[in-house]
Amino acid sequence: MDLREIGEFGLIDRIRKWMAASDAAVIQGIGDDVAVIEMAGKALLVTTDILIEGIHFDRSWIDPYRLGKKALIVNLSDIAAMGGNPKYFLISLGLPKDLSLSFISSFYRGLKEGTRKFRVDLVGGDTSLSQKIVINICLIGEGRKKNLLFRRGARVGDDLLVSGTLGDAALGLKILQTKGLMGGPKGLIERQLSPCPRIQLGQAIAESRFATAMIDVSDGLLIDTTHLLEESGVGARIWEERVPLSRLYRKWIRSYSKDPYQIALCGGEDYELLFTAPPETRKKISSLALSLGTPITRIGEILPQKEGLQIIREDGKKYSPTRLGFDHFK
Ligand code: ADP
Ligand code: MG
Repeated sequence: MDLREIGEFGLIDRIRKWMAASDAAVIQGIGDDVAVIEMAGKALLVTTDILIEGIHFDRSWIDPYRLGKKALIVNLSDIAAMGGNPKYFLISLGLPKDLSLSFISSFYRGLKEGTRKFRVDLVGGDTSLSQKIVINICLIGEGRKKNLLFRRGARVGDDLLVSGTLGDAALGLKILQTKGLMGGPKGLIERQLSPCPRIQLGQAIAESRFATAMIDVSDGLLIDTTHLLEESGVGARIWEERVPLSRLYRKWIRSYSKDPYQIALCGGEDYELLFTAPPETRKKISSLALSLGTPITRIGEILPQKEGLQIIREDGKKYSPTRLGFDHFK
């Protein structure tokens, strides 16, 4: 059997079984956005993400400044998805010999901008020769154990909610890949090149204590919903026409797809927050969205596990999606 057959997530499931953690201080090991370890009464949060040239980015469309910032941001989003507070990080780089010093200095300027904006400190890393650029960040954060939101925790009857709009980053990538930097509106392209982690929103949701589970949308709405459902042992229904789309997305999607929802449902890298909360908290959620100026949309509801994941189309027709989102090996 090869990785194509089991896919990225089939592989992670196996690793999780082979390598179960034994220390009682491990509150959450493999299986969530970050690992959670209890330390001196606090919850230590640890997460890592890798960016590989040719797989995650292409030097022809992302400049080193934005690349540095983005490398940090994709990690910050995982801490946001727990409602945590990011603090310190390490960065390891694989670099080709012919890379210019100015590329690296711009990369670190972008990284520095990220550290200033999100108040985190770089505390170390590692450097090696590589044929292609490889960037790995390990980010450490902290949280209050009682406030943290895991992927597990969603209950039948809960609402399924998402922040912001979906599909912009993936549509931005499509534009970059087909037409280049000038091929479409800046708004969509910037969502791909300079995403924004929902740190403040994640913390506000965690502190308000009304949500039951949370994940960030990094691989795509459907696949990340599936991760939340699997960890919680539940199913869900999503109303397609409720999936929040930006004005620019609506305008530009027609040139790229016959199905206006396909990219919003399956495209990745929006770094929005997807969470569940019981219906009686709707008023509180609206006022939180209003006070932070971040739209939060109710896109579905949690069902018993046997119902699986169902999408309800505008005409009322129901289907169970087969293609969910990005998997490195499929
Ligand atoms: P995210 O999209 O939030 O970054 P992933 O889908 O990458 O999450 O990972 C899901 C879970 O699997 C996380 O707990 C992550 O730490 C873990 N994981 C991913 N790859 C590996 C690996 N090679 N070995 C051990 N754990 C892994
Ligand atoms: Mg995540």
